[in-house]
Amino acid sequence: MAIVQNAAPRRATITQGHEADRRRQRLDRGNARWRSFASAHPRQGSGRRRELLEHQEPRVSVLSCADSRVPPELVFDQGLGDMFTTRSAGQVLDSSVLGTLVYGVDEFDTVLLVVLGHDSCGAVKAAIRAHRTGVLPPGHVGYLVGQVLDVVETVPEQETEKAFLDACVRANARSVAEQIREEPGLREAVEAGTMKVEPARYDLRRSRVEWLDDASRSGRGGEGVPAPRARGR
Ligand SMILES: [Zn+2]
Repeated sequence: MAIVQNAAPRRATITQGHEADRRRQRLDRGNARWRSFASAHPRQGSGRRRELLEHQEPRVSVLSCADSRVPPELVFDQGLGDMFTTRSAGQVLDSSVLGTLVYGVDEFDTVLLVVLGHDSCGAVKAAIRAHRTGVLPPGHVGYLVGQVLDVVETVPEQETEKAFLDACVRANARSVAEQIREEPGLREAVEAGTMKVEPARYDLRRSRVEWLDDASRSGRGGEGVPAPRARGR
């Protein structure tokens, strides 16, 4: 009987996994259009707006930095209702951001959650400054920078500051993705294989999104950065 009971969830998991891959390919195609200045601006017309009046089903969730140069709908060339997007400087998590992500997964049956960092990130630069000087900015900005600082402190020094900044950007996106995978409201979907969490890095100069776990899996791009320690909040 156990086989019968498990059959449906397993089928659902496989279907969801394929759907996550299919959605990621769609983002890749959108990013390819964006970087070759051939954006299609899909699903934004009057028909789509009418279609979404009563219902939305964004199966992709994106947590990105607030940086004005990295708007997710543009860099992935997606339309209305395609992505449930949350933004905070440095993709920093707090209760509101996590609550938003959990809400999206619960409400829209998310199959793919992208954590989108980017090169030349101001939040990461501020955390590196705090790392060098030992001084955090005051108030809410201090909270934000402090979250990224926890990651920066785990990253080995590199030959140049530019390389160190890039290593920190990569480590930060990976750390946020890992924290999301461990979040009680989201862990179940990750462990069941119904949702994939993918850290990514947007390159401003090339307009290109790079999937960071692909680089790790193929042995490229790891730069010897250790997995940042899990943080309490
Ligand atoms: Zn940023």
